[in-house]
Amino acid sequence: MPPHPPATRAARRVSRRVRRRRTMLVAGMLVAAIAAGGYALTRPSEADADPSAGRASTQATPPRAEAPEAEPSPLTPPASPTPVGSPPPCDTAEVTAAIAHGSDEDVIAAFGGGEAFRLVVAAGDAPCIDLHRAGRTWVVVNKRNALDPKDYWPVPQARPTAPRIVSGGGWLRADAASALDDLAGAAAADGMGRLGIDSAFRPYDFQVGLYDRYVASRGQQAADLRSARPGHSEHQTGLAVDVVACGTAGCGSHDDFRGTPQATWLAENAWRFGFIVRYEQDRTETTGYAWEPWHLRYIGTELARAYRDGGFSTLEEFFGLPAAPTYAG
Ligand SMILES: [Zn+2]
Repeated sequence: MPPHPPATRAARRVSRRVRRRRTMLVAGMLVAAIAAGGYALTRPSEADADPSAGRASTQATPPRAEAPEAEPSPLTPPASPTPVGSPPPCDTAEVTAAIAHGSDEDVIAAFGGGEAFRLVVAAGDAPCIDLHRAGRTWVVVNKRNALDPKDYWPVPQARPTAPRIVSGGGWLRADAASALDDLAGAAAADGMGRLGIDSAFRPYDFQVGLYDRYVASRGQQAADLRSARPGHSEHQTGLAVDVVACGTAGCGSHDDFRGTPQATWLAENAWRFGFIVRYEQDRTETTGYAWEPWHLRYIGTELARAYRDGGFSTLEEFFGLPAAPTYAG
């Protein structure tokens, strides 16, 4: 059974939009209250903001706690979560120092944590954060964003020891490898058995051959749903890994991973270790890929927590990026 049946997913999406509109309303009223000298505006208006606007880069805040239903607001949602009068987030001493000398975790902490980081990035308020730059935990690689540089090679790398390496070298960027060990250990402790690694880091040249073989065997359209063109694969970042379920009879394959207890466990628990299931069911229009419950992407625990708490199902929406269903060229 899929982790999110279509009806439930649709209801979640509607609920998410309503909650976003509510939170944008509250944020907009606060900004207006400040501008009006401290008086909150309470008069509703027929001029409602487009509820779909909250899904774009102007998104002010993710859905959080439930709030009473509100009437439409005359206020335009604020484009930036940065308080009026505050320096741009990238200009603060903490962020400047973290970007120059710190780790990715230090940078996110300097912004105030995963959700604060996401908010300013999604609002276009953090020009110092380049979502296209390979080597950062927050890099977004999809059909519209190629790796930069194209031949990026992650270092340092390490090989997880808790999962069984079924095929490929099993190498990941070291922080992702360590996190995957923690994840695999927790899965085993929860009775999920041992996970296997079917594919982890894949260099650019390897992806050339892999994609060509897909095209030769299935045609380009089918290949593009399952395999990235060279320079567009998350596997090249060293932050993505395909897992399979192993048992006493050996390890299964991708295609029989769907619906397994391990797949369900991953969908519910991967975030605790900094991973997300990157290609969820029914999200092809945004991600460009078919449902792949086995493909995990490491984004670090801070961002993964914000992703989960916000109810997101694609990294594109999480960062306010346009959908990437097809290649630009
Ligand atoms: Zn994969």
